[in-house]
Amino acid sequence: MSNGRKDTAPSRVPRSGTKVSRRKLLELGAAAGTAVLVGGRRPPRGVATAAPALPALPPGADTEILRMQVDIRRALQKPVDQRNWIMVIDGRKCIGCQACVVACAAENVLPPGVSYRSVPEIEYGTYPNLRRYPMPTQCMQCDKPPCMAAANAVAPGSITKRPDGIVAIDYAKFRGRAAFDAAVKACPYRALYYDDGRFYTQPTPAFQPYEEAVSHDYGRHWVRERGRRAEPPAGGGRKCHFCLHRLNAGLVPACVSTCIARAIYFGDKNDPQSLVSEILEKTAGKVLRIRENRGTEPRVYYICDDVPLSTSMHT
Ligand code: SF4
Ligand code: SF4
Repeated sequence: MSNGRKDTAPSRVPRSGTKVSRRKLLELGAAAGTAVLVGGRRPPRGVATAAPALPALPPGADTEILRMQVDIRRALQKPVDQRNWIMVIDGRKCIGCQACVVACAAENVLPPGVSYRSVPEIEYGTYPNLRRYPMPTQCMQCDKPPCMAAANAVAPGSITKRPDGIVAIDYAKFRGRAAFDAAVKACPYRALYYDDGRFYTQPTPAFQPYEEAVSHDYGRHWVRERGRRAEPPAGGGRKCHFCLHRLNAGLVPACVSTCIARAIYFGDKNDPQSLVSEILEKTAGKVLRIRENRGTEPRVYYICDDVPLSTSMHT
């Protein structure tokens, strides 16, 4: 596995002996992304459709972010029910910098009290042999999501399971505290947050325009304006959606592109050529899913050195 720094330096192309600059690689990636946005037909709300053919990366280019984006665009060319989005987090590389949390908040224009992602520090051992390590966590996009039945019993149709694996919230239906409380109680991962419509600068005279920036959850344009009554997504529960709007544009989730330790990977588990499939194969025996004993079938995989110890700490 790469140390994650290969995209910061020119990549050598072994067959031709020429160098391809990082700028050129990014241009290729951006061009492909634009093709998906402009050339593709507008999908139904929150659902990606087949994307145009992609330019291949230069031979020998192994930049991980760009490779994951090519993986995503290859997956977008398949019917949605043949995509199998997963995330792999290498806990051995995470340094707890919280950059992914900040990137997520900025990408999704998250208000006070809402966080799609957190990186708490886990402590284990007994004094004086104590250790702490950062543990990135978020909605696990469970294949058997207990939040869904709980929420839908109160507000029918408010949480659904997409064919590509993402657990999606319908902001128009997932309204009010009762449905939210039911879902929160059912979720073993503390992944849901209530958006009560506040702004960070609300009590101050210095309102900042960034708080009214449009957000793009589930491929929609959500406008949040001070002075208006709480409108969706405010007034209901929110959570990570694997940056679905970015996936539809052929981009990795914001946390993945921001992680300075290259500890987060994303892609299509159904694709044996994808980087996530390759990593899971290479790290067999070092992979776990949190609270697997709950039967939720989470879609976030963690790589760690001591699976039995980590499993015992997260059940
Ligand atoms: Fe639902 Fe929680 Fe699973 Fe996310 S992590 S799908 S909110 S049960
Ligand atoms: Fe860990 Fe990467 Fe998030 Fe930093 S950005 S806390 S290294 S997962």
